[in-house]
Amino acid sequence: MDKDTRRTKARGRAKPHESKSRTKKTKYSSDYLCESFLEYFRLRAHEIAPSAPLLPEDPTLLFTSAGMVPFKSYYRDPGTAPFPKAASVQKCLRAGGKQSDLENVGKTLRHHTFFEMLGNFSFGDYFKREAVDYGWELSVDVWRIDPERIWISIYQDDDEAHELWTKRIGLPAAKVIRLGKEDNFWGPVGSTGICGPCSELYFDTGPERGCRKATCKPGCDCDRFIEYWNLVFPQFFLMESGIYEPLSKPGIDTGLGLERLAFILQGVEDNFHTDCFLPIRNSVVEALPGGKETKAAQQPVNVATDHIRALTFALAEGILPSNEGRGYILRRLLRRALTKLHPFGVREPFLARSVDAVIETMRSRYPELTDRASLVKDVVTAEEKRFLSTLEQGLEKLRSVIDAAKRKGRSDLPGEEAFVLYDTYGFPLELTQELALDAGLQVDVEGFSASMMAQKERARQRSFHVGDAGRQMDFVEVRKVRVTKYLGYDALSCEGTVGAFRLVDGAEETEALSDKNGIVEVITDQTVFYAESGGQVGDTGVARFGTRELRVLGAYPLNERIVHQIEWWKLPGLDEVGAFFNDNPTVQLTVDKEMRLATARNHTATHLLHTALRQVLGDHVVQAGSLVEPARLRFDFHHFQAMRPEEIAQVEAIVNRAILEDRIVTWEHMPYEKAIELGAMALFGEKYTDSVRVVTVEDFSRELCGGTHLSRTGETGLFLIKQESAVAAGVRRIEALTGTGALQYVSDLLDSRNRIAKQLKVTPDDIERRIKSLLEEQAVLKKRLTSKEGTLSSERLNEAMKAAVNIDGIKLVSLEVDAPDVPTLRRFSDMLREKLDYGIGLLCQVKADKPVLMIVVSQRLTKDKGIKANELAASIAETFSFRGGGKAHLSQMGLESYDDFVKVKDFLIEKLSSV
Ligand SMILES: [Zn+2]
Ligand SMILES: [Zn+2]
Repeated sequence: MDKDTRRTKARGRAKPHESKSRTKKTKYSSDYLCESFLEYFRLRAHEIAPSAPLLPEDPTLLFTSAGMVPFKSYYRDPGTAPFPKAASVQKCLRAGGKQSDLENVGKTLRHHTFFEMLGNFSFGDYFKREAVDYGWELSVDVWRIDPERIWISIYQDDDEAHELWTKRIGLPAAKVIRLGKEDNFWGPVGSTGICGPCSELYFDTGPERGCRKATCKPGCDCDRFIEYWNLVFPQFFLMESGIYEPLSKPGIDTGLGLERLAFILQGVEDNFHTDCFLPIRNSVVEALPGGKETKAAQQPVNVATDHIRALTFALAEGILPSNEGRGYILRRLLRRALTKLHPFGVREPFLARSVDAVIETMRSRYPELTDRASLVKDVVTAEEKRFLSTLEQGLEKLRSVIDAAKRKGRSDLPGEEAFVLYDTYGFPLELTQELALDAGLQVDVEGFSASMMAQKERARQRSFHVGDAGRQMDFVEVRKVRVTKYLGYDALSCEGTVGAFRLVDGAEETEALSDKNGIVEVITDQTVFYAESGGQVGDTGVARFGTRELRVLGAYPLNERIVHQIEWWKLPGLDEVGAFFNDNPTVQLTVDKEMRLATARNHTATHLLHTALRQVLGDHVVQAGSLVEPARLRFDFHHFQAMRPEEIAQVEAIVNRAILEDRIVTWEHMPYEKAIELGAMALFGEKYTDSVRVVTVEDFSRELCGGTHLSRTGETGLFLIKQESAVAAGVRRIEALTGTGALQYVSDLLDSRNRIAKQLKVTPDDIERRIKSLLEEQAVLKKRLTSKEGTLSSERLNEAMKAAVNIDGIKLVSLEVDAPDVPTLRRFSDMLREKLDYGIGLLCQVKADKPVLMIVVSQRLTKDKGIKANELAASIAETFSFRGGGKAHLSQMGLESYDDFVKVKDFLIEKLSSV
């Protein structure tokens, strides 16, 4: 290897980047680059790992953002790695969160949100020397990048790397640049953990693309030096004390951007003109008016090209646009693309067409995209339409807000206005920030958040209260309570002290309400009532003030306090209630035990269901919504198709097995990081505090959850799925029952089964057999009936022929038939026509409310006298205003009643006689 690389240098290679030869393009196609990379490492005993999904297992990550993400834990503990070294082509998404390239897309020609990362990894196997050898050999010998144009950066203190590049590979020291911690030291992710120096390979595209400053070299912000391969050497563990402890088994983690490599080797002007992007880019250009791309449109076109590729991959994995978490990022990408192209006259949805281009371009490496095409396009089009409907007005609003701010000499854009843009026009905050910055303004983010909070509070109040129509007052404080202590996990009853109250329903002002029950909302210093959250409804029960017992209809959280909704018979005035709480400062709060238990059954069962769904359908199943009530549970989750009946049965069986195994349910508080490390399922987009509550079903499931649970799964009794349905594209819903609800459901089913048996006059066990025989019997009868209706006996036909009226040699045959429908009537007409040699036939439906009349004319008559059925029908229609039509041999008319048949017959006889 050593010798080999030196030879490479000496020989001097072709310079593909400079080559104008088109054949080079196919030689260095992205498919070839991926294949040659994997093949190289396969031959060096690396496990070839398939790409992990963009949706990472670690819920703290937004998306898979690097090739090493699926292998992360192997670096901490190489003993657990199933193979000592691996290579992969990993799809990555860097948008939103800490590792976001979203804002850079378009500004540079080398940043992308979605990209593919080629990587080789060692988990305590090989180290720096091999990594450097592999990097050099692949670049120079396999892909034949001109070694003269390769530059290297290393971490300033990494003499080992310096030695390898200069002595072993033989690069001049001037081309091995030492950079600082910012550039060439990786990690740790948190305050402690694995970290290490890195070394990067750069490609010099030449001074034309550069900033032309004398200081321009690898690490410069301009587009001249392309960093294409980063070799990371995880070799330390940063301790709490600040000491970098060397790892006994250091690893290797490298990342090579496919798009950048393709750019270097395909001899095109930038990444967007490589085969990874070009067909997609062309599809975006087609959306511009006249399909022409102006120079000013280049950047926006690149942005849309990048974003639709990212959207297609994310949507194909079942991540859907929404207002939070990952879904919010997707929405941002889509809206950013549309906004960027709007000034160039793009007004119609167009991204769905580009989805086809993405799939076409990428499907050789990701054939699964094809199956998801229609779903992805549906979602994209719906989102596009929705945003385009407000985009125009939104931009106008933004312009006027910017103008107003400038007139007032402000350097910032008011947060409330940014919120209006978000709430009314669908402008993500980040988009408004970007557009405002173009006009030199910052957005007041605090003001934005305040407006958002205020709106959420308003919405919550609107949706929660029984007295929707009534007015709501501010809380009247009796004594200071800032936090309500929750005791309900371990107790069902406690004593509390009233802190504040308010009346709901406006009982004082509205006379109509004054003799009905009202609601007083009461905050106490501690309680056992679960406050509605995380999909679980608030507890109900009783509140006893001295001798007075009142019903608690629900409880909800208000910041860190818990509000009880207490029913008050004939709501008194504010002063009276105030006086009452002065006399009764303490309250005995007791939760309804049955209700609590029923709710807990449904909540614990929800956790069992979540795990069972992942076991049966796969890890892409993520909770999208949940409702836990005493009577039932509802669980929404991401999944593409309707569940098959056998899948539903399987899920039901897994949950019921876990119930029968009577597993222990426990809960404890622990630091968030620890919970995630233990593999607890968390919801992305939920805000978790440092200390989280983890609910564990022994050897079965572990979730971050604040809800109330059973202590053993056996208490659930029975779990039944009542329904599985669609909620939105890619989101399914399961409604299920447990405990008494499930038993009641079974008992109702048995009742109905008994009633059916009684009606069928069989025992319940014979229902199926009886139904089967009834259906068979019905089929036989039906057949017999149609065959009876379906025949027109030749006897009747002959009779009718004999009774024909003869008008100057033309036979007029009329016949009344009992045909159940028009096709049968037409069949009879054909039979009659076959018998007619030289004549006209009339067939009328009897026993029909509005009978249909068929007129047939024999071929010879039409030929001879030019008489046609449709013309006869036309003249009848003209005289009697019936509707009809048809062809020369047969036409059809709708009559009002049977009497009309006689009229029509007379009319025809007269008409034919006068011919
Ligand atoms: Zn530069
Ligand atoms: Zn839960």
